[in-house]
This record gives sequence, structure tokens and C-alpha cells, in this order.
Amino acid sequence: MIAEAAAGLTAIRHISDLTRGLKDLSDQTKINAAIIDIQTAALDLQKSIFELNRERDQLYAENQELRQKLSNSAEKSADLDRYELKDFGSQTFAYVPKDGHSGSEPNHCLCANCFGNGIKSILQFEHITSVKQNKFLCHTCGKETFLGTPQEWKSTKGAKMSDPLWDL
Ligand SMILES: [Zn+2]
Repeated sequence: MIAEAAAGLTAIRHISDLTRGLKDLSDQTKINAAIIDIQTAALDLQKSIFELNRERDQLYAENQELRQKLSNSAEKSADLDRYELKDFGSQTFAYVPKDGHSGSEPNHCLCANCFGNGIKSILQFEHITSVKQNKFLCHTCGKETFLGTPQEWKSTKGAKMSDPLWDL
């Protein structure tokens, strides 16, 4: 871009010099040659302007794209800030909405692996394991997450194997 701008300024200077010298010419042949030089310099200037416009348009498009990425990143970061890491027992972790930040969303957990990479991925409940842990699957990274302290299964509570146990 700087090279094109410098070439444009050189072309303008050249045209200016040529037109200044044109008034002192009386020979028609020299006048015609000077006019051809001016036209050539004008074409060079036009080429520089075209190149500058093309580069300006490209920079504008890149700027818009970066602004959009920055905006998306800020929104994503603000959304992730609503969550905190929770220990579900025996050092089994997942991210959950902070108190008062769940809004109208249903109870859910985020994958700790994806969260660390700045990705909001809701864990999908699979089933309760034989040691009474909730097994979840992250459909983004494919990681299985077991939440809760392993215990012996007690069927007297009336819970079904398909029910998630949120209060362990
Ligand atoms: Zn994940």
C-alpha cells in the first residue's frame, strides 16, 4: 500500500512537471510528445489509485471480520463468566451456572475439558453407573464425565437408573 501511494505521488509530481513545461513549448512535435508523456503518467496514476482502492477495500473487509470476531469473543467470554467450577464429590468436576446466573435455562453442566478451551459444551446425561455416579458425555470433545462420589447402589430410594442424581 505504501509503495502504491509513493508511486501515485511520483506520478502526480511527474504530471505536474510535464504540464509546467508544456507552456514553454512552441514546437507541435514536442507538444504532442509532452501530451503523450502526460497521458502515460496519468495512466500510471490511475493504476496506482486502482491498486490503493483495492487494498483499502481488502483492509476494510479484514477490519470488519476482526471486529466481528472480537465481538463474538467478548460475548462468548461473558457467557462463560456466568459459570463456576463445582466439585460434585470425590474431585469430580463440571462447570455449573453461578447462583442467580442460570436465568430460565434448565439445570445443566458444562464439560470442564471444553470449558478450559473456551468452548461452552453442555454435558449430556447418559445414565447412572453401578457405583451411583452420573455418567455424562460431551458431544463436542467426546469425553465421558462421571460426577459424584462412587457409592454402592441402593435401589430403596426409588430412583431409576435413567434419572440423573443432581443432589449427591
Ligand atoms: Zn467437551
